[in-house]
Amino acid sequence: MPYLSSRYAVLEPILVVKDIRSNHVQMILTQIEKVPLRIYKRLIAAGLVGIEVTNKPLTKMDDMGHLAGVQQPGHDPGDTYDFSSGTYEPSKRLLLLGNGTPDNPQPPKFVPHEIGHAIGILLGWDDTPEMTAHHKRLFPILEPFLRQSRGELFAEGIAERYSNGRRAAIRRFDRPFIDWLDKINA
Ligand SMILES: [Zn+2]
Repeated sequence: MPYLSSRYAVLEPILVVKDIRSNHVQMILTQIEKVPLRIYKRLIAAGLVGIEVTNKPLTKMDDMGHLAGVQQPGHDPGDTYDFSSGTYEPSKRLLLLGNGTPDNPQPPKFVPHEIGHAIGILLGWDDTPEMTAHHKRLFPILEPFLRQSRGELFAEGIAERYSNGRRAAIRRFDRPFIDWLDKINA
């Protein structure tokens, strides 16, 4: 039985879903469909291998145990990957979408955030002169988490844009950044 609506059928061959009965997994599947289909087609054309969806933390997913106890860059000391719900794994071209620990459950926006990392890395936007300029201009108003890299700002821009819409994203960042995101993702 397909996990996504028929419009998103192009994703079914690369989608692996576990814990289908959990509400969290249902939420992830709903969030996946907030990102436009054309973007997934580009990611697949660029080599995205798979999207794994589970109700587990990142370090409990297959092949991710090596991240247990490892500090997450840019996070508070002691905030290891054990608390992380997912990531885009560039070496495997895999999008891993799970859940945090019970005391650190993940809000829905983490799904388009991780998809944003896949877009930024796989399609190369993180390292463009445009993205460098947006990061520089916005730097004074960014939270520390977003100051650490262009990639984090790109991912969070995508998350805000597709979770809460264009107006909310412009309010949080600025119009030139969101106009640019909309142009490259058109
Ligand atoms: Zn991130």
